[in-house]
Amino acid sequence: MRVLKFGGTSVGSAARIKEVASLIDDGEQKIVVLSAMSGTTNTLVEIADYLYKENTDGALKRISELENNYYKVVDELFETNKYKEEGKGLIKNHMEHLRSFTRDMFTLHEEKEVLAQGELISTAFMQYHLEEKGVKSALMSALNVMRIDKAGEPDDFYIKENLTRELNALGDYYIIITQGFICRNAYGLIDNLQRGGSDYTASILGAAACADEIQIWTDIDGMHTNDPRVVENTHAIAELSFDEAAELAYFGAKILHPTCVMPAKLNNIPVRIKNTLKPKADGTLISVNTNKERIKAIAAKDGITAIKIKSGRMLMAHGFLRKVFEIFETYETPIDMITTSEVGVSVTIDDTRNLDKIVTNLKKYGTVDVDTDHVIVCVVGDFVASNSGIAASVFSAVKDVPVRMISYGGSNYNISMLVKAEHKKQALIALSEKLFID
Ligand code: ADP
Ligand code: ASP
Ligand code: MG
Repeated sequence: MRVLKFGGTSVGSAARIKEVASLIDDGEQKIVVLSAMSGTTNTLVEIADYLYKENTDGALKRISELENNYYKVVDELFETNKYKEEGKGLIKNHMEHLRSFTRDMFTLHEEKEVLAQGELISTAFMQYHLEEKGVKSALMSALNVMRIDKAGEPDDFYIKENLTRELNALGDYYIIITQGFICRNAYGLIDNLQRGGSDYTASILGAAACADEIQIWTDIDGMHTNDPRVVENTHAIAELSFDEAAELAYFGAKILHPTCVMPAKLNNIPVRIKNTLKPKADGTLISVNTNKERIKAIAAKDGITAIKIKSGRMLMAHGFLRKVFEIFETYETPIDMITTSEVGVSVTIDDTRNLDKIVTNLKKYGTVDVDTDHVIVCVVGDFVASNSGIAASVFSAVKDVPVRMISYGGSNYNISMLVKAEHKKQALIALSEKLFID
C-alpha cells in the first residue's frame, strides 16, 4: 500500500485533476490525499477574515467569485450532464454553507469549518471524475479518521484504529481518496493541521497504514539545492536522509511541511517527492539510506525575531538558562536558534504572539534587545562524514553578508546563520555559488 499526496497546483484545474486521475489509475492499491485546488484556501482565509470583521458584502462577493470559478471547473471536468449536475449541486451546497456563516457572530470553530471546504470539494471532484470514467474508487472522509489531541498533536492511536476500520469497510476498493489538511479536534469539531498540512496528513496516514512508501506529488521535480523562487540554477537532489529532509523542511524549504518527515522517519517509511508535471522524473527519495554528500541543500526561514538578554552579573551561572527557557515555555513559544556567551544569550523565535510578555519577564534578568525582520539561512548536509573545511567554506561564502548569529553542532546536519531579511537573497546566492558551483 502506498500513500500519494497531490498538492494544490497538482489539482489546480480540471485538466490537472484529469492528469492526476490517470496517474493514480495504475491497478495498485493506494490512499490518495488531496489538497484544495490552488488558491482556494487563501480565498477561504480571506472570506473568514471578512466574516470576523462582519463585512458581509465582502464575504458574499468573494464567495460568489469562488463559486463561479468552481462552476467553470465543473463544466470542463465532467463530460455527462449527470455529473455536471452532481458537480454543480456539490458546489451549490458548499457555497450555501459558506453563506450561512454571514448570519451569526463568527467563531474560531466556524473559521476551521470554512477552511475545510477546499479539500472537501477537491476530493469530491476527483471521486466524481473517477466514477464518471468508470474507475472503481472510494471517498474516505478524513473527518472520520484524522484527529488531533488537546495539544494539537495527531492522536496516533485513534487514527490507526479508525483508518483500519475504514480500510476494512472499503475492502476491495483500490483507490481511496481522502482530504489532506482537515481533521477533527479532541472535542470532535472540525479543525486542521495548519497551512500546508496535507503533507502531514499523508505521512500520518502512511505511518498508520504501515505504507511501503509515501509520495508527495507537487509542481517541481523534488527537493532542490536551494529555494528556486529566490536562486537560479538550482537542481533536484536525488537522495536525502530523514534528518536532512526534516532540517530543510523546518528551516523553510516550502516543498515539505515541517512536521511531515517525523511520522515517516519514526516508522522508517521512505518518502518520495515527485513532479505531477513530469511523472517520469525520479524526484527526491528521503529514507535512512542516503549518500554521504557533504552539502546537500540550503534553505531559509523567514519572519524570525532575535532576542538578546544581556547582564554583567554571572549570567551563565547555574540555573540561568533554565529560567530563560521557562519563560518561553510558559508562553508556548518554540526557540529555533540559541547562542551564548559569558555576558549574554541570544535566541530566535518565529511565533511573536506573546513577545511583549516574554520580554517583560526576561527583563528581570538583564537588558533585552529585540530585532525583528530576520531570516535563518541554513546549510544542510552530512557533516559527520567529511567534516573538514565545511564551516570555512560556508563562512567564506557569506563574507560580505552581516551575520547576527551562528549555530553549528546542534545536529550533524545543519549550520544555521541569522541575517537581516534584506540580506537573505544575497546570502542564498553567495552560498549557492560557493558550495555548488565553485
Ligand atoms: P504543494 O501545493 O504541492 O504542496 P508547495 O507550494 O507547498 O506545493 O511546495 C512546492 C514549492 O516549494 C515549489 O513550487 C517551490 O517554489 C517551493 N520550494 C521552496 N524551497 C524549495 C526547495 N528547496 N526545493 C523545491 N521546491 C522548493
Ligand atoms: N489547502 C491547505 C493550504 O493551502 C493545505 C495544503 O495545501 O497542504 O494550506
Ligand atoms: Mg505544500
